[in-house]
Amino acid sequence: MTLLYPLDAELDPEVRLRLLGTKASGLNEMTTLGIPVPPGFTITTEVGAEFRKSGKWPDGLAGEVRCALAEVEERVGRRFGDPANPLLLSVRSGAPVSMPGMMDTLLNVGLNEATLAGLASRHANEWFALDAYRRLIQMYGTVVRQIGIDRFQFRLVDLKTKLGRPRMADSDLDVKSMQELVAEYLSLIQEASGSPFPQDVDTQLWDAIGAVFASWGNARAVRYRRMQGIQQATGTACTIQAMVFGNTGTSSGSGVAFTRNPSDGTKQLYGEYLPNAQGEDVVAGLRTPVSLTARAAAPGKEAASLEGSSPEAFAEVSAHCATLERHFGDVQDIEFTIEDGRPYILQTRAAKRTAAAAVRIAVEMVREGVLSKEQALLRVDASSLEQLLQARLPSEGELAARGVRTAANGLPASPGAASGHIVFDADDAVRAAAEGQEVILVRQETRAEDIHGMKVSKGVVTAAGGMTSHAAVVARGLGKCCVVGCAGLRIDFEQRTVRLNDDAEPLHEGDLLTLDGSTGRVYAGALDLVASTTVDELGELMAWADEARRMRVYAEADTPQVARAALSYGAEGVGLCRTERMFFAPDRLFAMQCALLAVEDEQRNHWLGELERAQCEDFVEIFDAMNGRPVTIRLLDRALQELMPEDQRSLRAIADALDLERDEVAKAAARHRESNPAFGHRGVRAGLTIPGLYDMQLRAMLIAAHQCTERKIAVDLEVLIPMVAFTSEVVALRAVFDRVRAQVFGGPTTLFRCRVGTMVELPRACLIADELAEHTDFFSFGGNDLTQFVLGVSRDDADRFLAGYRNELGLVAGDPFTVLDPRVVELMRLALDRGKAAQPGLVAGLCGDQGGSPASIEACERLGLDFVCAPLSQLPGARLAAAQARIR
Ligand code: ADP
Ligand code: MG
Ligand code: MG
Repeated sequence: MTLLYPLDAELDPEVRLRLLGTKASGLNEMTTLGIPVPPGFTITTEVGAEFRKSGKWPDGLAGEVRCALAEVEERVGRRFGDPANPLLLSVRSGAPVSMPGMMDTLLNVGLNEATLAGLASRHANEWFALDAYRRLIQMYGTVVRQIGIDRFQFRLVDLKTKLGRPRMADSDLDVKSMQELVAEYLSLIQEASGSPFPQDVDTQLWDAIGAVFASWGNARAVRYRRMQGIQQATGTACTIQAMVFGNTGTSSGSGVAFTRNPSDGTKQLYGEYLPNAQGEDVVAGLRTPVSLTARAAAPGKEAASLEGSSPEAFAEVSAHCATLERHFGDVQDIEFTIEDGRPYILQTRAAKRTAAAAVRIAVEMVREGVLSKEQALLRVDASSLEQLLQARLPSEGELAARGVRTAANGLPASPGAASGHIVFDADDAVRAAAEGQEVILVRQETRAEDIHGMKVSKGVVTAAGGMTSHAAVVARGLGKCCVVGCAGLRIDFEQRTVRLNDDAEPLHEGDLLTLDGSTGRVYAGALDLVASTTVDELGELMAWADEARRMRVYAEADTPQVARAALSYGAEGVGLCRTERMFFAPDRLFAMQCALLAVEDEQRNHWLGELERAQCEDFVEIFDAMNGRPVTIRLLDRALQELMPEDQRSLRAIADALDLERDEVAKAAARHRESNPAFGHRGVRAGLTIPGLYDMQLRAMLIAAHQCTERKIAVDLEVLIPMVAFTSEVVALRAVFDRVRAQVFGGPTTLFRCRVGTMVELPRACLIADELAEHTDFFSFGGNDLTQFVLGVSRDDADRFLAGYRNELGLVAGDPFTVLDPRVVELMRLALDRGKAAQPGLVAGLCGDQGGSPASIEACERLGLDFVCAPLSQLPGARLAAAQARIR
């Protein structure tokens, strides 16, 4: 087995990714392309896995590292541990799955009391050498010895306080203070871990390698993998690379470049640069960087941009960016460091981007001839398209007209708008969100350990940081609205307040705040949001998706409004109209309650008649909106107890309407109470036992269809029977249907298409699918109920333990109510096989919450289903996901 590979090794791409991980693969590819990358080598993931298992290094590793290091020393002309001209190393993590910032990296390895002077004299800069040294000691302390980072920060703040300037920048510390700081840090390591910082450079190196491999298993990384559903076990590789320095003076610096704008996709180099700084400073967002290009700089600040201040280095970086984008065929996110005017590329990866940027870039790359249509379709994350339908704020003019004033301004890091309650840390965000609150996370800056809080927040605002700070990058990836570098914010973490500007009253935790991530504006209070505009290129991408997909995509729509909106999102029909949701309006609920609680037939029929008229009107509008496309209407499926009156006032009103005593009504209502409503008197069970209920619904549909055909509106009606467990239920219901149809039309009718289908959502229904298929025209798998009944988990209460199973205990990987559980899929396959054996042309599809999730849609494609049915906001994503599933 090969233990390590130099960065310039020729490797098969698949092997390279598996053995070196994404980061080192990128370094390797760049090196072979001739891009300036500091020389180094990578110890493979296999070695890491072995080390994590046995705690020992494989035989021969020490010798190979020595040889590879000698090679690097040769290239750079410096020696590791040489007091006169020391080589310093970075020791970097990186796994085959990208886990940005979750594992550890050590920089400046090889500095000690002896090499310090050599480094200082080489760069004629004692301060710089001390700065590098204190960074190494701190990283060694936190990563290898697991000392909390706060303890280092406290020492730093103590020192600054002693100097009388607690808020001074690190870069303002003089050489003497830096020496003091180094001494402080060295003693902290001794105190906190019981042994000193190793002066022996080989010990430093091997400790660092061990810690990097171990960081695969640190709490942060484990949690991240659980949350992302990453089950991969390969582990990290470890890259050892010569250090380059961005902090040697004014002709040095570090930056981040995106080959296209990651917010809106514009084909222009985009990025940020911090002169005289190490790369970690840019990402940490501690200082606010300048822009990479003069064009993107603030007016008057053009000369400060990298392009303005170091045109040659800029030109070189731009050329590398162009090469990399062409080579990878995708937008790259590139980290670089300029040492004394010479750029080095330290990392490249596919750039995280907003959904809008992803769509625009994918379409433009097809136009540029870089991608095929199929490749472009695979480039866009289907679930992110929902972002494009995200809310935004009214225009500035409209807001001004309403007297709304901007309270603070920051950088527009991730578009969209959000209102919510202020929280000041990630754990509070999670707690509040679990209680159903919409929250805005307000931070000085964010770090990797804040991600769980960012995920549940509606938006994030930070006082510090630039467009490539942690908060900005993560928010864009999550599709969260985000404002960074909002320098006017004064956050008081003790008091838990924030002032939006110097004149503003402090806002407290829980107060409302509104962010506009597209403009960087921040407002006190909650503002009304409006639906967003779409990206120009979306139509084109969607047209390609529609061409590529096999499955039909229907909408869930319970009202004519949603049906009309669904059409504009490309739905081919209504796949599920839940009639129970048509009874939410107070007057309709009242009529329903009267119908269910009436004692006399005449009264019941009166109220059923009311309901019939209301349903009929809705159905006419929906048929009208869908204009001949299929409309699937599901008969009432709601636990009757949920329709019962709850308060005294409604009881009284119903009693009055039915001419009964209030007690009698209360008793009748109580009879509908069940201990387990999900398993109870619902769906077809209610339809067959409550006189007139389903008759009313069927009559409303048929009359509506009839009225439409008279008005020359084409109708394609599908009736769905919910909660079927027995074939006899379907047979009985078909008899009801035939009877009602005979009443309305005097017999079968050819005026419009009409089919009767079965919801397959109980395990028993799956098992008798062959019989069911003989009595129905189509199957609609009810993903939510089938999951509930197969797993024995109530969807409404699932998160009491499933979230813990997933995130803390790692017992399950995903959410079965979002992505179909593989065993549920297996049961669907069985049902489908049995159904098709009885009726070869059987049409079948999926409805329920999973119908909008790309992974579930892929499972449906594999099953060979004919359609999926998605909620409104997920329709564009479902169309794309269906295309992607087909292509894959
Ligand atoms: P992460 O996965 O956390 O991004 P990296 O291995 O990419 O970790 O390292 C973090 C940062 O350390 C880089 O962004 C870069 O700024 C700096 N760094 C890594 N290697 C070198 C190097 N050889 N020379 C200078 N800086 C480096
Ligand atoms: Mg990195
Ligand atoms: Mg159901």
